[in-house]
Amino acid sequence: MEERKCVCGMNYIPSTELVVKKTIIKKPLFEVIDIHGHFGSLILGDDYENLYETAQIVDILKSYNIRHIINLDGFWGEKLDRVLKKTHPFNDYIITFGGVDISRLDEPDFGRYVRETLEESKKKGIRGIKVWKNVSLVMKDKHGRKIPIDDDRLKVIWETAAKLDLIILIHIADPIAFFKPIDKYNERYDELHERPDWSFYRDEYFGFWQLMEMQERLLENNPDTTFIVAHGGSCSENLEYVGKCLDRFSNMYIDFAERISEFGRQPYTSRKFFIKYQDRILFGTDFNPLNIDYEANFRFLETWDEYFDYSCKPKPPHGNWKIYGIGLDDNVLKKIYHLNAEKILKI
Ligand SMILES: [Zn+2]
Repeated sequence: MEERKCVCGMNYIPSTELVVKKTIIKKPLFEVIDIHGHFGSLILGDDYENLYETAQIVDILKSYNIRHIINLDGFWGEKLDRVLKKTHPFNDYIITFGGVDISRLDEPDFGRYVRETLEESKKKGIRGIKVWKNVSLVMKDKHGRKIPIDDDRLKVIWETAAKLDLIILIHIADPIAFFKPIDKYNERYDELHERPDWSFYRDEYFGFWQLMEMQERLLENNPDTTFIVAHGGSCSENLEYVGKCLDRFSNMYIDFAERISEFGRQPYTSRKFFIKYQDRILFGTDFNPLNIDYEANFRFLETWDEYFDYSCKPKPPHGNWKIYGIGLDDNVLKKIYHLNAEKILKI
């Protein structure tokens, strides 16, 4: 028998006795554009080229009715060339987003560097820019100070993006529980116990709501730039808040990458939210070639199934709970699966 320790949920993976409908969806009702994927070094490490065969992965993606996927690991310069080489000859299918080296922020010609890099990367085919959470959480400027995401010095990135018609996909913050003490009251205790490095509960970090204030100012101060705020707009635990932001900022879109665990545990609220904001939500999974995990996403969007796993992994990776489907209608599904992405990526 499987070992089950009873220490604050550690190694405790109860199997439900509930007998309810189980819908298996291998192919979603409509074609999908997955806005949030990783084909390069960010998740897979520097040896990523040896970890998968691009043609084989594209075949698997097509079997799930994925029409396009966005690779957020373009970076810039030689790193961009490398990943485009790896995804060749599928660079129409795998659409790459690039970036700029924000650690060069204090260099006197940072503005020129940003403009030149983005222009050059656009010529190579990038369609957007990925900005990661390390900017507001980890990076420091030359004075050793944290870099708020709404820092004036970064404005050249948002302005150049708008000028070059590049979308920004931005990851700010992390689940709220990662900003709280790792104790018996923390709803993500298991994850944080296993990965204490995911915790941002220390004075050296901005607090969660400080980050949200910066996020709001970023959206407000750059109305001509289109932002996809990843992971449910950074705050899928509080959809009333995300909805208010979507109401205020017409340049804001969200994806639900790695967050059906959050959306799916509040199915009544989520269903209303997905219907109300059906033009602003993009399908995204945080795909990487070693982590292909689509079926629960389709089941969450399309069915009324109850109390099911949000991932095919044996242990729930994002919160020790189950989710419920929100049974969206076809016209809403179509927008979320691909129409919204088509619109903002101009596909
Ligand atoms: Zn990601």
